[in-house]
Amino acid sequence: MKILKSLLISLLLLASVSITPAAATNELKVHFINVGQGDAIYIKTANGDDILIDAGNRDGNDVVAYLKKQKVNDIEVMIATHPDADHMGGLDEILKSFKIKSVYAPKVSHTTQVYKDFLTAVKNEGVKNKTATKGVSIPLKGVTANFVGSVRSYSNSDLNNWSAVLRLTYGKKAFLFTGDAETTSENDMIKSKQVLTADVIKIGHHGAKTSTSSAFLKTIKPKYAVLSVGKNSYGHPTSDVLNRLKSSKVNVFRTDKQGTIIASTNGTNLAFNTKPAIPGTVTAPTSATYKLTASLDNRTPKQYSTINLTVKGLPSGTKYKAVFRYKSKNTTYSGSVGKKLPVKIGRAAKGFTVKVDVSASYKGKSYKTQTAFTPK
Ligand SMILES: [Zn+2]
Repeated sequence: MKILKSLLISLLLLASVSITPAAATNELKVHFINVGQGDAIYIKTANGDDILIDAGNRDGNDVVAYLKKQKVNDIEVMIATHPDADHMGGLDEILKSFKIKSVYAPKVSHTTQVYKDFLTAVKNEGVKNKTATKGVSIPLKGVTANFVGSVRSYSNSDLNNWSAVLRLTYGKKAFLFTGDAETTSENDMIKSKQVLTADVIKIGHHGAKTSTSSAFLKTIKPKYAVLSVGKNSYGHPTSDVLNRLKSSKVNVFRTDKQGTIIASTNGTNLAFNTKPAIPGTVTAPTSATYKLTASLDNRTPKQYSTINLTVKGLPSGTKYKAVFRYKSKNTTYSGSVGKKLPVKIGRAAKGFTVKVDVSASYKGKSYKTQTAFTPK
């Protein structure tokens, strides 16, 4: 009976602490979704905003399914880099499937069917289509999101160079999403004297040799590069680009070899879900460093009162175990990082310091910390 009761209590406790709303975390995540030959990049900011850059070549159902799996219900910002099918192909389906708050696309007129479908879908959803061009910044909390390209207009047949290029920073970490921008656009960006440096670059045009010039790499100074590429007849990624990345000592990830690539950052550290396909010689920490901390809102509570335990330092929602070492026995509670855990201390002995040992594991590593209180 006693066992049953304590089981019930711990079940109740679990139920009361395990509900994690889609609230702010301290991490920004960038998913380079594997869509074969094409681009689809999903970004979740620490503030909880959703950004989608392109949606691959297919009907969009693969990206819709991926986003649903990530529990996306609305998308704050949709970016269509340029009117090519391998980028815009799936966007109309995304527009139909999710509430989209804003759409950014370059102001290029083009007559392909995918572009028409996209514009029709934007119109049908009643979303305002904003221009993505150098100098435009997206109003989002907690991050800086600026378009650094295209710098100018190009001819209507030069669609790749029209690509919207987004530079996104969170804390000290920066990402550059280049669409299919080629050397002409890259040179225009360099000449424009904007800040372009980035820790992570999404390689332009799937590794075509007409993108990712040595001069551009020298300007961006990336430590990591992601190639969004699949089976194709163009020879992407080209050995030219792979060699340039190699001589710049960049760590390279490839969606064709590794599937979806996910980068996470807390603004200071950067981690990926997998090791680079081509390791660079630039220092490549593969996991962010975390430090678990625990605090109590009252360290000298009265008997029979409730105190709140707060555990931080790992991504929100990570489960932890807290062992309260009372004078007579130990009591174990379960909680979620970032969410207050109320604990009734009962008739805890006055003047006896109760140590609280907190432990959690995240991505195969264990973390420990301690706090304490003394009932008065
Ligand atoms: Zn492309």
